[in-house]
Amino acid sequence: MAKKQIDKEVTVEEKLTTLYSLQQKLSEIDNIKILRGELPLEVGDLEDEIIGLETRIKKYEAELKEADTAVSHQKQKAKDSSLKIEKYKEQLDNVRNNREFDHLSKEIEFETLEIELSEKRTREFSQESKNLTEQIEKSKTFLSERSEDLAQKKAELESIVSETRQQEEQLRDEVKDIEAEVEPRLLHAFKRIRKSARNGLAVVCIERGACGGCFNKIPPQKQMDIKIGKKIIVCEYCGRIMIDPELIGAD
Ligand SMILES: [Zn+2]
Repeated sequence: MAKKQIDKEVTVEEKLTTLYSLQQKLSEIDNIKILRGELPLEVGDLEDEIIGLETRIKKYEAELKEADTAVSHQKQKAKDSSLKIEKYKEQLDNVRNNREFDHLSKEIEFETLEIELSEKRTREFSQESKNLTEQIEKSKTFLSERSEDLAQKKAELESIVSETRQQEEQLRDEVKDIEAEVEPRLLHAFKRIRKSARNGLAVVCIERGACGGCFNKIPPQKQMDIKIGKKIIVCEYCGRIMIDPELIGAD
């Protein structure tokens, strides 16, 4: 009973002014977020990019290790073949027949080809190793640049956040206080309209006979009703709550 009486005491005009001031506080919070802008997103993107670069460097480093191992393996093979050739040549001095001579000559020929093959592979793997080393160098330079960018953006974001944190907290407290003054059903409707409105404005003034939100013409009778301010009137096109500019001291 007592609550109903209190509700009755609140005029429509008062409800509208309350909603309008609530909207102003919320818009201020929106502006703080705009000020932070794309920074949180940019920080996130950079962090992802850095993880990607680190993964790439690890992969290159594993490949480099493989290539270097292959180089030493091929060098060892060539060395082994040379030793064999030396041994065969010594044996050649002591051959007892043509068959043995032919056999040793073929072995020497075979090992000579093996050496050529190993040298070719050594060159190939060395080239690969060189390319990978360059790629790792490049990726590391890129990584350090990106890390610097990230540190800078993070610092920027932190400074904006800390500058505006207090302001935002205060606004949020004020919003809570104002919201407590608005009847739940109306507050719910206000929030719903605000969510669907592109500019975040749920309460708009009529401007030159048109809705200040969607700029559609308002019928004269409705304009009168808004001016009288005896009930809450929404725009039939965009659903925003319309108010008389004089109510909020605007032209
Ligand atoms: Zn409208």
